[in-house]
Amino acid sequence: MKLSLMGGAAALGLVVGSAASAQQTFISIGTGGVTGVYYPAGGAICRLVNRDRAEHGIRCGVESTGGSIFNINAIRDGELEFGIAQSDWQFHAFGGTSRFEEDGPFEELRAVFSLHPEPFTVVARADSGITNFDDLPGNRVNIGNPGSGQRGTMEVVMAEMGWDMDTFSVVTELQAGEQAQALCDNNIDAIVYTVGHPSGAIQEATTACDTVLVNVDNETVRALVDDRDYYRMATIPGGMYRGTDADVTTFGVGATFVTSANVPEDVVYEVTKAIFENLEMFQSLHPALATLDPAEMVADGLSAPLHDGAVRYFREAGLMD
Ligand code: GLU
Repeated sequence: MKLSLMGGAAALGLVVGSAASAQQTFISIGTGGVTGVYYPAGGAICRLVNRDRAEHGIRCGVESTGGSIFNINAIRDGELEFGIAQSDWQFHAFGGTSRFEEDGPFEELRAVFSLHPEPFTVVARADSGITNFDDLPGNRVNIGNPGSGQRGTMEVVMAEMGWDMDTFSVVTELQAGEQAQALCDNNIDAIVYTVGHPSGAIQEATTACDTVLVNVDNETVRALVDDRDYYRMATIPGGMYRGTDADVTTFGVGATFVTSANVPEDVVYEVTKAIFENLEMFQSLHPALATLDPAEMVADGLSAPLHDGAVRYFREAGLMD
C-alpha cells in the first residue's frame, strides 16, 4: 500500500515535470565581450524571441563569452544551443580544418543566418609610430584571448606574414573588453579586434586616449583574400571614430548565427521567424545591424548546412526556393 502510494506520487511528479518542460524551452546564445557587437546582437535576438514567449514557450538568454571559437566548442559540447561566430571559424569547424583539425569536423554544426560584416580592426596608440599593420613587429600587441575569433584570425595572418610571438616586444592575451583600457594605460601599443562597427570597444579605445585605426592591406593579406571564400576586403568608413578621418582598408569576415543539428527544428524555426518577421526592429537595436539585408542573411558566409528549422522558415517566407 505504502509502496504503491509512493509509486503514484512519483508518477505524478513525472507527469507534472514533463508538462512543464513541454511548455518552456530554455535556449542560450553564446556571444562575446560586452563591448563588442555579438553581445548586443545576441540580446536583440533574445528580445525578439522572448516577446512571443506566450505563443511558442521558448525563453532565450544571452551569455557573454570568449568569442567565436569558444561558442562553437560550447555548442558542440551541448552547453549552448546557439552562438554567434565568424564565418571563417564556422567554415573551419564544420570541415575540421585549421584550429579545429585536432577535434575533427563538427558535422552537426548548422548555420541559421548571417549577421553584420566584421572588419579585422587594428587600433594603435597615436604615439606608438604605428601607421600600418606592417609596423606591428617590435611593438607591444594584444593578440586576443584564446577562444576569440580575432585570436584565431590573427594567428592565421601571423603565420602568413612569417611572424610568431617573438616578433613583438610584448604579447598579451587580454579579453576583448579589457583591451581599450590596456591601450590607454600605455600597457600595449596596439590591439586587434574582428568586430562590427560601430562597436563600444573601439569607441572606448578611440575616445579615452589618442589612437588611430590603421590599414591592414598588403600583398599577403590580398593573397589570403583571393584564396579563401570567407575573407573579403573591407572598409571602415573615415570619421566613424575619433582620430581616424580617412577610410581604413582591411580585410574582414562575416558574423554568423549558428546552432547544432541536435537543437529541435521547431525551436530554430521560431527563433528565425522572430528575427525575420521583426527585421526592422532588429536592425534598430544596434547600429552595426542597421544595414542587414534578408537576401544576404540567408546566403552569405554560411558554409555549414542550414538548419532544417531555418530552411522551413525561409521557404515559407519566400526567401528560398
Ligand atoms: N569576432 C569576435 C569573435 O569572434 C567577437 C566580436 C564581437 O563580440 O562583436 O571573437
